[in-house]
Amino acid sequence: MSNAFFKVPTPVNEPVLSYAPGTPEKATLKNWLARMQAEEIEVPLFIGGEEIKTGNVAEMRAPHDHSVKLGVYHKAGEKEVKLAIEAALDARSDWAAMPWEHRVSIFLKAADLLSGSWRPIINASTMLGQSKTVYQAEIDAACEICDFYRFNSHYMADIMADQPISSPGVWNRVEYRPLEGFIFAVSPFNFTSIGGNLPTAPAMVGNVVLWKPASSSVYSNWYVMQLLRAAGLPDGVINFVPGSGRQVGDPVMASPDLAGIHFTGSTAVFQSMWRSVGETIHEKKYYPRIVGETGGKDFIFAHPSADVDALAVAAMRGAFEYQGQKCSAASRLYVPRSIWPEFKEKYVAMVNEIKMGSPTDFTNFMTAVIDRGAYEDIKAYIEKAKADPGCEIITGGGCDDSVGFFIEPTTIVASDPKFVTMCEEIFGPVLSVYVYEDEDLAAATSLCDSTSPYALTGAIFAQDRYAIVEMAEALRDAAGNFYINDKPTGAVVGQQPFGGGRASGTNDKAGSATNLLRWMTVRTIKENMVPPTDWRYPFMGEA
Ligand code: NAD
Repeated sequence: MSNAFFKVPTPVNEPVLSYAPGTPEKATLKNWLARMQAEEIEVPLFIGGEEIKTGNVAEMRAPHDHSVKLGVYHKAGEKEVKLAIEAALDARSDWAAMPWEHRVSIFLKAADLLSGSWRPIINASTMLGQSKTVYQAEIDAACEICDFYRFNSHYMADIMADQPISSPGVWNRVEYRPLEGFIFAVSPFNFTSIGGNLPTAPAMVGNVVLWKPASSSVYSNWYVMQLLRAAGLPDGVINFVPGSGRQVGDPVMASPDLAGIHFTGSTAVFQSMWRSVGETIHEKKYYPRIVGETGGKDFIFAHPSADVDALAVAAMRGAFEYQGQKCSAASRLYVPRSIWPEFKEKYVAMVNEIKMGSPTDFTNFMTAVIDRGAYEDIKAYIEKAKADPGCEIITGGGCDDSVGFFIEPTTIVASDPKFVTMCEEIFGPVLSVYVYEDEDLAAATSLCDSTSPYALTGAIFAQDRYAIVEMAEALRDAAGNFYINDKPTGAVVGQQPFGGGRASGTNDKAGSATNLLRWMTVRTIKENMVPPTDWRYPFMGEA
């Protein structure tokens, strides 16, 4: 029972630590990296508070070094998925009835633990398992998870405070209930924070969840699950079920109790899940809420008035940080002919300075791509460009999988603006460039708008304010996150709510009130203080 209207502490973004030489955070992290690299772990499923080992295991290895085995994880099959659904449904009534401030306290505690002693563990596991540099791990795994937990707590309280008006003699109220059934949270490999957010946003507002992490990020995601346990998350609220997509996904989709899907990953997988829900809708108890953030083909569009130095840095960082494996990564660039020579010179010089290697060596700016499948896919796109007479490769182009899955930062200049690498999501360190004629600005923005089915992130660079207005208007629907004179990556919770439209997703903006509302179902309550006791209306009399 709550006897007060509690105020959630006003959130502030978790400060990003520098890891500069001599800092205590660097020393602690280096210790954890050495320790974790030397130890192999066995990751179980976690269902209803029980650690379950199925014996059907897969290896976890560092993408940047085939010789570094981090351990094995157990995979769920149909039997374990059914067990997890039961465990979630068993936990539902107690969890939904828990006073909201106690639910929130668990996530605020998780954020505080992560801000302190858990920080190096979550960061080191992300660096080793997903090959992120320390800075990329810090902004993702440590800071963004803290931000999700603190900001979502605040947004939830704001939502609940939103109440209808009442007329005389009546008190109208709305309550924000969790959904009945369970939520299926399916996370991608590329952000530990997405794994940290997809199951917890629905859970915070009272839902119970099955969480399927991506196979290539089970290592760090298991530590996130442990963090939530350490913060006091009750058993059965979030059930951790790693495994192959179909083996976990199919029995979940078949369940009549599926109340929602919280997905981030590729467009093809999301569309297949949506299709399964559609095909079985007549067997479902509820209309599942389907929330998905999916692929992108994110652009930078430069105007002749662009600051060329700023454009070069944005293109380089936007395209190659985390090896281009961000859904928001710049992967196509439109540059006007007039500034192309100056841009090319500065940009190529910068990219050629990039050092690539293990994330445990802090001097590296880039490391390896996530796994063999990604390596082969990205390499195939580069080979296509090499074989096409209409393409010129001005940086990189080399791939080497002898030690780890390394792909050089590659820039393709395409004479055909519809060349395959200008249109399709590659999800690796490949930037495709189209040089347009200055006088064709309107046609070039229209081309940028219509070249891909996606609409996730996009950036424009210009100093001429009329040009900014014109380009922002022309590209209004081309991106859910739009940047003016900045790279299209690096959205921060509470500052740039993230998500895209068209084939990029349902645009429910992770880490925002919009997203939390999808996991709530409103009950409207009208209480009549003095109900009528005569059935006849006054108009029924005759004077
Ligand atoms: P993916 O689609 O291969 O996998 C995502 C998740 O879906 C994984 O957990 C995977 O195991 C699971 N999965 C696959 N098939 C399934 C099935 N049939 N049923 C249930 N689950 C299934 O994506 P990925 O390679 O992990 O991540 C890269 C993709 O994610 C890119 O397309 C990228 O653009 C996208 N992404 C988008 C955003 C965004 O906010 N829009 C953020 C991060 C990543």
